[in-house]
Amino acid sequence: MRVTNESLPILLEQVKQATFEMIEFTNISPTLEDYWRSIILFGRNSATYKFALAKSLLELAPSGKSFVTWEELARPFSRHITEHLQQRDKQGSSSSSQFLHSCRAFNRGTLTQQQLIDITVRQGFENVIDAFHVVGSSEIPERFFHGKRRGAKGIDISDRLFQLLEQYQFQNLPHEVEARWRLVETAWQLDLSTHLVDVEYREFNGLLVPETLKMRRKSVTSCRSGLNGYQKGKCFYCFNEISIEEGSLDLADVDHFLPHTLIRVSAIPNINGVWNLVLACQTCNRGERGKFYRVPALHLLKRLHQRNEFLITSLHPLKETLIAQTGRDEAQRRSFLQTHYNEATRLLIHTWQPEFEYPAAF
Ligand SMILES: [Zn+2]
Repeated sequence: MRVTNESLPILLEQVKQATFEMIEFTNISPTLEDYWRSIILFGRNSATYKFALAKSLLELAPSGKSFVTWEELARPFSRHITEHLQQRDKQGSSSSSQFLHSCRAFNRGTLTQQQLIDITVRQGFENVIDAFHVVGSSEIPERFFHGKRRGAKGIDISDRLFQLLEQYQFQNLPHEVEARWRLVETAWQLDLSTHLVDVEYREFNGLLVPETLKMRRKSVTSCRSGLNGYQKGKCFYCFNEISIEEGSLDLADVDHFLPHTLIRVSAIPNINGVWNLVLACQTCNRGERGKFYRVPALHLLKRLHQRNEFLITSLHPLKETLIAQTGRDEAQRRSFLQTHYNEATRLLIHTWQPEFEYPAAF
């Protein structure tokens, strides 16, 4: 069928009808291991203390103790930090950490182990206890321990950590923490600004190497006008007006539907592919309640599939690219989206949708 301006709305209706009739997309519930991994892979990193705490928790769990004092926690925690400092001197983005200076002093032999443990109890846990369960911008719904840093004598180990211990995968978790820790400290050692790198990686000759923002932005923004045809000048998520004129105040952001941060763990093939790119208004993409590292709600996944199917059915120039990236027929492409949507949810935990949607424009 030749697609003309007049036939486009009819075609869109047909695609909507077809995607409406098909099997619905479904949400998955992350497992305990997923929650744990999301902390390790996507929690905030301003120092590597989170990794030291994670390794300490995994080490303490088999003892079955439900309450761990600061001193009991300080032993493995300071051991992990001092061991890592011997390999890489940079373990935080701030160079003035008193606690790290004390760990270095211990490594030089000018502090005893008990002195180091006392200092760790006083200074080592300042931010990490309260921040441990934060992924993206908010806490995940499961906790592996309870307790705040201030006013407590230690932490209560949660049943969740003991349940994690019973999983077959438990044995792999310390190795995963270690691998992640090494990647992060390598980026810092290279003195790559965390803003530039945000410890994101791409594959190069089988190795993960830090990727700069510049490298990823270039190819992605060039598809703005290609995507705008379908979106008719509206935000993909909320249908707010957007512009694709360079320099315009409402210039659309090219957004990765499944967040680009997933590239860190190479979880999604072709994450910069057009199948995963949409135009978003600045409010949705980076406003106060913007999407950031969260996975769009299920109805938005359906909208994405509908968009991709429409571009393919309308013989859009991007048709072959979309097919190459996501599958030969509709069923394959739907399954591709569902698989990677599940993967993204398991890794990033939090979902997002705009607070308000304007009337649907596509
Ligand atoms: Zn929007």
